[in-house]
Amino acid sequence: MAKSGQRKGGSGAGGVRVERSTKNDVTLVGAESLSTIADPVLRKDIQSAISRFASIFGGVSERVIKIADFQVLPSDFHGALAVQYEGGKSQNYIRGIYLNKDFWTDKKTVNRRIKEWYDMGWFVRTSNPTRHIVMHELAHAKWSRLKSSRSARNARKEVTKLYRQWRRKERPGWGDYAKKNVDEFFAEGLSKHALGSGDRYTRRLVKILKENNL
Ligand SMILES: [Zn+2]
Repeated sequence: MAKSGQRKGGSGAGGVRVERSTKNDVTLVGAESLSTIADPVLRKDIQSAISRFASIFGGVSERVIKIADFQVLPSDFHGALAVQYEGGKSQNYIRGIYLNKDFWTDKKTVNRRIKEWYDMGWFVRTSNPTRHIVMHELAHAKWSRLKSSRSARNARKEVTKLYRQWRRKERPGWGDYAKKNVDEFFAEGLSKHALGSGDRYTRRLVKILKENNL
């Protein structure tokens, strides 16, 4: 899940800090700090995912990670667990990873939801569903940096080429979601590498990043 585009909208209302961003049909309202999540186990898991991502893939490109109200998004977003959003110009620019408040209440709820997707063959199955989603979105943020960076030109080409090779056959252990596009392939690939079982494709992804100092 990743969204990017232009942003319109304002912030602040009635003494309550509200963040709001709008891109055509995408609206994010009521973004709050992760510290407002009541379940300490879930909070800890999110933090572990962030530090683990940084230690394996060399740095986190996105430090804005919040929970937000997805009920205000178009209905096809209500069931989404998270989005990585980026867009807007100058002072209206907003970017971040937003976790859906409806699900990110406690670890059990998040896990239940993701396990449904595992059972449907939708996502790569990993040892830790909660960390999976956080890492998936962090990977989107990283890929999005690579897409806009000149020095990452070579890496982009190599990742895209790898995606095309991978796409040619059924790949056991990978879910259907990674087939959607190179963005989802990259996000699921890094998650699979960190939490599931690395294979020659995930190892190649990591190697491309290392070889290009990214
Ligand atoms: Zn995604």
